[in-house]
Amino acid sequence: MKTTLFTVGPVEMFPGSLELGGRQLPYFRTEEFSSVVLECDASLRRLAAAPEASRSVLLTCSGTGAMEAAVINLLGPGDRALVIKGGSFGERFCEICSDNGIAFDAIELEPGRDLAPGRLEAMDFSAYSALLVNAHETSTGALYDLEGLGALCRSRGILFIVDAISAFLCDTIDMGRMGIDALILSSQKVFALGPGLSMVLLGPRALAKVEGVSPRTHYLSLKRHLHDMDRGQTPFTPAVGIILQLQERLRELERIGAAECVRHTASLAAHFRNAMAGLPFGFFPERPSNALTALQPLGKISAYAVYLELKNKHGLVVTPNGGALKDRVFRVGHMGNLAEADLDRLVTALKEVQT
Ligand SMILES: *Cc1c(COP(=O)(O)O)cnc(C)c1O
Repeated sequence: MKTTLFTVGPVEMFPGSLELGGRQLPYFRTEEFSSVVLECDASLRRLAAAPEASRSVLLTCSGTGAMEAAVINLLGPGDRALVIKGGSFGERFCEICSDNGIAFDAIELEPGRDLAPGRLEAMDFSAYSALLVNAHETSTGALYDLEGLGALCRSRGILFIVDAISAFLCDTIDMGRMGIDALILSSQKVFALGPGLSMVLLGPRALAKVEGVSPRTHYLSLKRHLHDMDRGQTPFTPAVGIILQLQERLRELERIGAAECVRHTASLAAHFRNAMAGLPFGFFPERPSNALTALQPLGKISAYAVYLELKNKHGLVVTPNGGALKDRVFRVGHMGNLAEADLDRLVTALKEVQT
């Protein structure tokens, strides 16, 4: 049975990436490979509307490695982070802080709930040096108001560190306009590549901060990565194959344009949500990202049973939830090489589910 992934990563890949994945890898300590890396760097910064003096690093690790790199290189012993914790990815930021001995406080939200306007504005920020947020909390489908959060961070003079791994090019991410100081990305979500390559984009304030922090890490030292990135290299063997696939994807994404990528994902999401209206499934988050639709079965069937039935009977792989939401919520991804016709097949299958 042919399967179609409506997952959040890996997702359905594009033919160009698949073709490149079958080729012999080159040796990478060469001028030629450096120029590939520098092209990716410039392209990522353009797509993220990063400020002029910004830089990027390519890390060979899953997205969590890039979250950890950002946290430990941007927060030192005297710093304290404020974390927005609206689901398992917000919780991951908390765990990264606590495992690394970095002081933090968390703003806890009910799963799927938006941050009420004014809740942060009323707080005393004098103890904090950075706000950590997942632009799109992938576990619930909730998208935060990045523009508002960025403005708040600017007015209080703290760093705005954003994990946009599942939001980039699905929802608008504009580092300059939103005042984002560090942006975290990863290969297996919106880039529709294999897992293993992650990126951190650093604006001028974050670059200045990195200089003054001495993290207890060798592999994830951003100073070390930035140094080698000057000449388009990485301190250690990078995910050579994924970088070559990224170069090809980025050329295509730049040809389309960031705004059009967001518009495309938004229109897929709207198409699916319109088709689902009236079926016995509720929409879960208050303020949904375009990247996925999180659904809650309203009848007797559990969310996990819906996932199993779609996968086993139809080869349609939606994303189950874990933990406390396992029986309540499943997610339908709109990232990667998907068209309206794929979502239509999913809707047809969902209509057959005995809820
Ligand atoms: C997928 C994802 C990550 C990274 O998870 P890995 O499994 O480490 O790649 C981090 N943050 C968000 C919001 C994600 O969706």
